[in-house]
Amino acid sequence: MSDTDRRDSVSDPRVGDTVDAFDAFDEALPAEPRPDPDAYFMRIALAVRSRASCTGRRVGAVIVRESRILSTGYNGTPSKMRNCADGGCHRCAHAEAYPSGEGYDVCICVHAEQNALLAAARFGVAVAGCTMYTTLQPCFGCLKELLQADVREVCYLQPWASRFADVYAGLIDRLGVPNFRRVIVDDPDARWALGRAGAPVTERGLGHEIL
Ligand SMILES: [Zn+2]
Ligand SMILES: [Zn+2]
Ligand SMILES: [Zn+2]
Repeated sequence: MSDTDRRDSVSDPRVGDTVDAFDAFDEALPAEPRPDPDAYFMRIALAVRSRASCTGRRVGAVIVRESRILSTGYNGTPSKMRNCADGGCHRCAHAEAYPSGEGYDVCICVHAEQNALLAAARFGVAVAGCTMYTTLQPCFGCLKELLQADVREVCYLQPWASRFADVYAGLIDRLGVPNFRRVIVDDPDARWALGRAGAPVTERGLGHEIL
């Protein structure tokens, strides 16, 4: 492509004058610190989360091996079904109709971590030995599934507290305490994803139990 073609082809008000940007490539760019790998992958998980369609917590997850992304997932109803946000999940749409702590088994929303595992399964990608980055501490169901898929490390952004902390701790022990890590990055959309900004995320609002 000649310079003339390039100048003719780029005039998009959404991105500004890209010809000038192209010309600026010859100039030295300001030195910006590169994000470390944890921050890099967690920010990608946050971008994945933006597609979540559940009316409960919104979550994004990324499966990484040797610093390469193998799979991603966000939570919502199964594909080719009505989105949760459009009333596709009766449990999510009528949470008040279910007794506290009950009926989660009829929630048809697939969790972000599950979707990441299932996308890998769909395309035949092995996840043994991988690291998962997820924007919300995994629920009991997802954590046990990650263990059974032999995911070796789980990094999460938003924590929550469980009434069954001892049971959860047993799963963490199985994973290995050092392999269950919180990775903190800025989360400006936390209110959208988690509900009340700054409020602690509790198991009641989470996962198989929360969504
Ligand atoms: Zn839902
Ligand atoms: Zn649901
Ligand atoms: Zn889950």
